[in-house]
Amino acid sequence: MIYPSFPGSKRADVFFPLLHLALHGAIPAVTARLAFREIWLQAWLIMMLTMVVDLDHVLASPVYDPGRCSINFHPLHSYPAIGVYVLLLFLPQLRIIGIGLLLHMGLDLMDCIV
Ligand SMILES: [Zn+2]
Repeated sequence: MIYPSFPGSKRADVFFPLLHLALHGAIPAVTARLAFREIWLQAWLIMMLTMVVDLDHVLASPVYDPGRCSINFHPLHSYPAIGVYVLLLFLPQLRIIGIGLLLHMGLDLMDCIV
């Protein structure tokens, strides 16, 4: 059984990134099931596609740094970009994309706090 014994341990180095990745799939799935019952699978797939915002990581060096806070570091994770994602909530055709992006930012923000 793999679980963190305490922060900073080798297990935590593996566990938390995997948990983070799992939550990026699970939280949109739960949201889609609750908010878009009739089209939950379609909504979940659209929200999963919003993960492409992580492509802005290729602009950073190193591309992946487990200790780095993505929020307001990468361009598509910046406060102005997040403001645009909030505006998407007001456009019915783009609302699911906005929700997916904001869930993504919220999950990334957890990395900044923990
Ligand atoms: Zn991200």
